Amino acid sequence: MKRLTELMKRRTAFSFELFPPKTDKGMEALPETIAHLCEFNPDYFSVTYGAGGTNVGKNMDVCRMVQDAGTIPVTHFTCIGNTREGIKEQLQNYLDNGVTNILALRGDLPFGWTGTGGDFAYATDLVAFVRKEFGDKFEIAVAGSPEGHIACRSLEADIAVLKQKQDNGADYIMTQLCWDMEQFKRWLDAIRRAGITMPVDVGVMPILDQAATINMALSRNGCVMDRALCEIISRNWIFPNPFVSDPYDADVEGKKARFKEAGMEYTVKQIDAYRSLGINGIHLYALNKWKDVSEIVRRAGMRTIV
Ligand code: FAD
Repeated sequence: MKRLTELMKRRTAFSFELFPPKTDKGMEALPETIAHLCEFNPDYFSVTYGAGGTNVGKNMDVCRMVQDAGTIPVTHFTCIGNTREGIKEQLQNYLDNGVTNILALRGDLPFGWTGTGGDFAYATDLVAFVRKEFGDKFEIAVAGSPEGHIACRSLEADIAVLKQKQDNGADYIMTQLCWDMEQFKRWLDAIRRAGITMPVDVGVMPILDQAATINMALSRNGCVMDRALCEIISRNWIFPNPFVSDPYDADVEGKKARFKEAGMEYTVKQIDAYRSLGINGIHLYALNKWKDVSEIVRRAGMRTIV
């Protein structure tokens, strides 16, 4: 059953991403976070999957929490360190637990690795394998990179890969964060011209913390920060830089608060811009934080609290 794909063809979906916390304390706090976010009646929660399956058990626990809250879990699943047999086993386990939605990814290569260390090098192969082994039992999302994946030869090559994912049986796209709206529009036009008809569920990263924002943009994906975002960062720069644990800046707390406020406004405007393009879904990377994320959802008018 393609519940989310069908829904996205009818109206704009709305969802959150969670990650399995590392600590027991974090795990204990998560049901409350999910309950708060459920006040907005999200269509699903996606749950990240650690490199090499380091958090597989916790990933399933978080999927269960989402089910217990009465919502659909979408588990991320990667090729990292996974053999064909291992993939079959794990995916059967998800099915046995009622998890029928996956985001099929290559996965972030662990530090120092040059390949996936598993049977598949690319997400395209994983999608084809899941369809071959499990037929239509899973609804399959795949990643799309509006700025092009950092390792791709060209944006055209990356779009060809995305088309291959569709041809191999993927159902819809979840995008990498993209703050460059002009580039996003070019990409959206280009994928449609390439015959990619899958719904596009746009990943939105809330701007809440200076160091985290810069890290998110540059540590892996080479994402462009537009002038408005750069201004927010510069106006609230924590000296000597936002990465040190003992900054000498006299106004650290004030700058953090002003950065967060300006960042939330920026995020809301970004959601407006995406919605005005008629995209099929807004997927908020909730970072396991319900208070700030709820404020963004409220200000953006994504949902009326039920
Ligand atoms: P692919 O689609 O396989 O692409 C990887 C690169 O290889 C691209 O440059 C592509 O152009 C190229 N390529 C693909 N196929 C071929 C081919 N046949 N021949 C030649 N080149 C090819 N990572 C995690 O580890 N855990 C997570 O939970 C997670 N969640 C994510 C959620 C979202 C919404 C997104 C967008 C990403 C997430 N990631 C996660 C990161 C993702 O795993 C990385 O971006 C990874 O580097 C690429 O994954 P992919 O599925 O896009 O790879």
